Order: sequence, then structure tokens, then C-alpha cells
Amino acid sequence: MEGMNERLKAAAAKLLLTEDCFYLYDEAGIRSRARALTRSFPSAKILYSLKANPFLPVARVMKEEGFGADAASAAEVRLAVSLGMMKEEIQYSAPGKRAKDIRETLELATLVADSAGEIARIEEAAKEKGIHVSIGLRIHPSFGFAGGRGEPSKFGIDEEEAITLLNDWHFPHLSPAGIHVHLKSQELSEEALALYYENVLLMAERLGRTEAMELSFVNLGSGIGIPMDPEDEEMDLALLEKAFAALAGPFHDRFPKARLFLESGRYAPGPSGFYVTKALDRKVSEGKVFLITAGTMHGFLRPALARLVEKYDETGHPALCEPLFSGARAFPISTLREGNPETVTITGNLCTAADIIAEDITLPRLAEGDGIVIGNAGAYAATLSPFAFSSLERPKEFLLKETGDLEGV
Ligand SMILES: *Cc1c(COP(=O)(O)O)cnc(C)c1O
Repeated sequence: MEGMNERLKAAAAKLLLTEDCFYLYDEAGIRSRARALTRSFPSAKILYSLKANPFLPVARVMKEEGFGADAASAAEVRLAVSLGMMKEEIQYSAPGKRAKDIRETLELATLVADSAGEIARIEEAAKEKGIHVSIGLRIHPSFGFAGGRGEPSKFGIDEEEAITLLNDWHFPHLSPAGIHVHLKSQELSEEALALYYENVLLMAERLGRTEAMELSFVNLGSGIGIPMDPEDEEMDLALLEKAFAALAGPFHDRFPKARLFLESGRYAPGPSGFYVTKALDRKVSEGKVFLITAGTMHGFLRPALARLVEKYDETGHPALCEPLFSGARAFPISTLREGNPETVTITGNLCTAADIIAEDITLPRLAEGDGIVIGNAGAYAATLSPFAFSSLERPKEFLLKETGDLEGV
């Protein structure tokens, strides 16, 4: 897992003069990881999952790198439009869209219906506006991510039900034009992902042969993970590229009009983001050294949460807690300066004892005013944190540009 390079450390040290806690994202890192992805899937369009990090300067970098948008709310559709993305490259897929969300986004994005009821609500909105629209269907496949039978899910329309709906389509203002599947995030096995892609494309063929479906896209969702433990290795994108190309080629031959989409949220920004917090106080209680820092739990929830989940969940199995919990050692802690090692417990300044991000770790001895850096803070970090708790100051966010400038909002 990546620490800060010297450029980032210098920028963080400068920001610490005026800020007590903040997020710092690295444009160079985001671009290089974004390019690694687009290079690996030349036959697919990749949609950036805005919910991972919707910070405007970060989202703009992803747009500049050629990504479309995977929007999870009407507000994220508006963000994608404001970035200059076109309707064809914005897909709005989320369970429980309200009638007003549908009305507002119908002409701005490709809506991906999450249930039969939702198809009816989209039909209603299209009829009201007197327009005909192409929509996608989020499918809950009959198979599971790792093969076998699928589990019940709150997402999507069961494959069998979708086939029935498509063979008896009775929504005159809607054309079913594509499918969307997303079964798992944070997968690190290339083989597992390749098998999943294969199964989704086979299913797309089944759905593509139904009466109403005019298959113009297949969105295979995400799954591509990042190291979230010191033992994890980066995915071998070259392996994934080879497996994907071998599947996409024959699929394009059979469905030449169907465009392939992939989604990715965490991959580019996740490891390219850092949370920096200042030591506000230092004390010793019954022989234990505590550093009280500015805004850890309220500013960046997941490190404190990881510690709690690890304490209370004996199974230690994070899959169903994504993206809230990705493992007990997901957020590496470092400092901006050297010093003699000492054992410390790092807490935040909230009035709750749960606000501990690391217990009895060894760090260079720090004093008040020194900075502590938490890595892996570029995705599902700011957005998942309870900024309103205790009415403390909300951490600001900054992008360190390749030019050396800092961009905030
Ligand atoms: C959140 C989400 C993603 C992004 O997942 P990552 O693991 O961050 O790449 C992709 N697709 C859907 C449907 C999602 O809900």
C-alpha cells in the first residue's frame, strides 16, 4: 500500500500550517491508475462510479481520462452532466429511485431499472413527457459471483423474471436496450473476475435473444479491487486484459451493436488519496501514551470503524460490509517527520471512546502540531464520514495538481 511521496509530503506540511485535518488527493497518481485501466480494456468504455469520490477536481480528472459516469443518485447524474458528459456515457443505476429522481434524469442519463415496479414508474414518467426512451435493466443473475446459484439480493431483477418481462414487454414508451450487473466489489483475483465476466456475457446472450431486447449495451459492473491489507498485491491488469479481450471479441462478433461497459470507483482514486490530521494534544494515562488528533472518526470514519468491526466480528469476513469495512489493516498510518520510535494510541477529538484509529502502534515520537497521515483515503473516505458529529469542523479536500498547485473548492 502506497505512502506519500516527497511532493505530497511537502504539500501536506504546507497545508498543515492552515488546516487541522484534510484530504489530499494526488492528480498524478489518479491519472496513472486511470490510464492503466483504460489501456487494459480498449474494447470497453469505463464508467467512473462517482460515489467513490465525487470531489469535483477528482471527478474532472476522471472525465478527462475518458471515463463516463456510474451515477447512484439524481445529484450524481447532475454532477456528470456538469462535467460535460453525454447521456450515452452516464448510467443511473440505484435501487429505490423516486418518481422525482426519474423525472429529473430521464433525458440526462441512461436509466437502469432496478425492479419491475421501477420499470413501470419509468414508463409513467416517459408517458407523461410524451417521449420514448431506451433503458437498461439491472439484472440479478441466477449465478453467484464465484459460480453456483445466486443468493437473494436487494439489487436488480432476477434473471428469470427479466426473461419473462422481456418476452412480454408491455411498456410502450420504453425500449429495453441493455443490461447492467454488479455483484461484488474489492475482488483481487483475476481468475475470479474473468469467470464472472464470462458468466455475465453468457447471460447477456440469453437476454439478448428475448423478444423485446435490442441489446445495445452490456455493463459488467465493477469488482476490480485495490490492496487493502499489507499482504495484498495489486491486480495483474495484463492478465485481466487478456481474459477480457478473449471474451469481448467473440461477443462483439455475435452482437456487433452491443457496447461493453465496465465500472470502477475505487481503483484510480483510492490509493491516490490521503487523510492528514494534526496532533492536538499528547497525554499519558496509566502509562499509555495517547495522541489526540483533529477529526479522525468524524473526518475519516473507516479507520475507527475497522477497529470496531475487528473487535466485534469474530468472522473477520468483510465482503458484506463493503465499502464500510474492507479489512482490519486497510489504512496505513505514517508521519510527516522522523523521530525516535514510541508506542502510541491515536484517537480523535470526539467525545466518544470509540474514536480510536490505532492502538499501541509504533510511530516516530510526535509533538503537538505534527501531522499524521492515513493512506488509502481516496475512495469511500470523505463521503462515508459523519462530518456533522459533534459539530466539529468539516475537513477540507484538496487535489495536488501535476503542476504543483493545490485545487480546493
Ligand atoms: C459502488 C459501485 C461500483 C464501484 O465499485 P468499486 O468497487 O469502487 O469499483 C460499481 N458499480 C456499482 C453498481 C456500484 O454500486
